[in-house]
Amino acid sequence: MKNNNSKKIRREIVLKGLPTSPGIGIGPAYIFRPFQINISELEVTVDDVEKEWRLFESAVQKVHKQLENAQRSSEIYYQDQFSEIFESQKAFLSDPVLINEIKQEIDRSHCSAAQAVSKVLSEKSEYFINLENRYFRERAYDIIDLKQKLVNALLGIDVDYQLGAPAIVVAEMLSPADTVNFNRNLILGFLTDKGGRTSHAAIMARGLRIPAVVNRYNLSQILHDKDYLILDGFTGAIIINPTDETIKKYNEKKKDFEAFEKRLFKEIEAPAVTKDNCQVHLLANIEFAHEVNDARINQAEGIGLFRTESLFIEKQSMPSEEQQFAYYKQIVEQMEGRVVTIRVLDLGGDKLLPTSEYKAETNPFLGWRAIRFLLDRPNIFKTQLRAILRASAFGKVKILVPMVSSVDEIIKVKEILAEVQNDLRQQKIEFDPDIQLGIMIETPAAAILAETFTKYVDFFSIGTNDLTQYVLAMDRTNEMVSKNFNTFNPAVLSFVVMSIKAAQKKNLEVTLCGEFAAIPEAIPLLLGMGLRYFSMNPFSIAGAKKIIRSLSLAECKALYQKVKNLHTTQQIEQECHNFVKEKIEDLEYLK
Ligand code: PEP
Ligand code: MG
Repeated sequence: MKNNNSKKIRREIVLKGLPTSPGIGIGPAYIFRPFQINISELEVTVDDVEKEWRLFESAVQKVHKQLENAQRSSEIYYQDQFSEIFESQKAFLSDPVLINEIKQEIDRSHCSAAQAVSKVLSEKSEYFINLENRYFRERAYDIIDLKQKLVNALLGIDVDYQLGAPAIVVAEMLSPADTVNFNRNLILGFLTDKGGRTSHAAIMARGLRIPAVVNRYNLSQILHDKDYLILDGFTGAIIINPTDETIKKYNEKKKDFEAFEKRLFKEIEAPAVTKDNCQVHLLANIEFAHEVNDARINQAEGIGLFRTESLFIEKQSMPSEEQQFAYYKQIVEQMEGRVVTIRVLDLGGDKLLPTSEYKAETNPFLGWRAIRFLLDRPNIFKTQLRAILRASAFGKVKILVPMVSSVDEIIKVKEILAEVQNDLRQQKIEFDPDIQLGIMIETPAAAILAETFTKYVDFFSIGTNDLTQYVLAMDRTNEMVSKNFNTFNPAVLSFVVMSIKAAQKKNLEVTLCGEFAAIPEAIPLLLGMGLRYFSMNPFSIAGAKKIIRSLSLAECKALYQKVKNLHTTQQIEQECHNFVKEKIEDLEYLK
């Protein structure tokens, strides 16, 4: 089982890192050094179609061999546990219909083999990823992986997202795009040198159920491929060269966690009410269409935050109105009348499109991000609004605007929205005329102006990930400051309370959709502050429900009254921790 690579330290070493996604990962390291390629830059018209066919055929053979090797090495460690993945990839690669489709694409478009592979396999993976059946959805990751392998073989790229065998991915940092480009089925965990709990790669890791830990020892420079590792996504422990005894202990912890999750899930149908009958609303945050299934399985009351950037990042370009409409409509229909809050593009910060639109910025989180970008690119904004409005004819949709920092911005947004609605009316295209417009409260400016904003919008969504970053002036992706990046800081909490109170005063719905919403210690405090709508990773809903059902609103209010008088972040967090520790069992697993 264990890696016996020579010349390396053989002794067990235990390090403390920052846990960013729960779960236990056990397995060999895969050192990832990213290589960015933008397939659209390779758009070329080819004359010699047959040459591209031959290149494609030899890439297929090369990848076939890679898969056989990978399967053999996987079987040494894991017997046939992962064989099915390789078998299905090999079968896919040998499918004459698929081979033909790709050749036809080369023929028809006179494009390179790399482009044809990318187009045809992207379409296939999109189809699979949207299916309800978990088996087929998992196959979508295999297809994405296969696409990457073929493209790399065609372009002669060696460093890539190929996980030969199941492994813990070790990297300096991972972008959201990196996080989704690996074959999900083979990732045992993420260990990065950079990042924080609220960086988008960590949020995605939680959505994908992959344990993740951030270290500050530059382990990506120190570790080697196949070094055997354990990651504890609850405590942040990183164990290099674990002894057999340690492996056994962590295997038990892994099993224990899985059993705990099963027990928790049994109560998923129970209502989210406190012991003294206060109704709480639990909604889901999603990034990808297929996560709607996770939201539904976990009984989310609706989608509180649908981050739309992934569609743009995955496509590496601006999707058309039709593509966006189809994507949003499908999600809205799958939610069957339950609310879907679609956030308009929040590009910028750590979510970049490799287009010439973006120049490197000195302070990307303070830069050309989200609504600032959209107001400067009204065509992109209008296209997205049209697609969202058209989808609103198929269910209950709300529009959410990120990173607002002034009323001026929201006035402009409303003008553009009215213009788009008018166009649709004239073209006799249906949409919901009562569609609600809300803003993310994630800048100090928006929180300070919250009461004024109630005159302009229909609802608020508090984004504590960014609010914490901007109130504390601390980069959310920078591990050097992560120990002090804490939403329990009383300054941040004041802004949260201010926003909740402003909404309550004017009877506006207010949701909190930052990562804070799912923290066990935060839930009672937020309830005590008056929050009733929580939006979180779908997999956190069961735990949040368990917490809510174990508490009474009266004691949550008392907790908030106590916390109001405390001055330090540590005292506040400790007070909240003591409060939940007494009442909730298995607290460690509810992270
Ligand atoms: C937030 O900032 O809290 C939020 C929910 O938005 P994102 O994490 O996508 O920036
Ligand atoms: Mg945000």
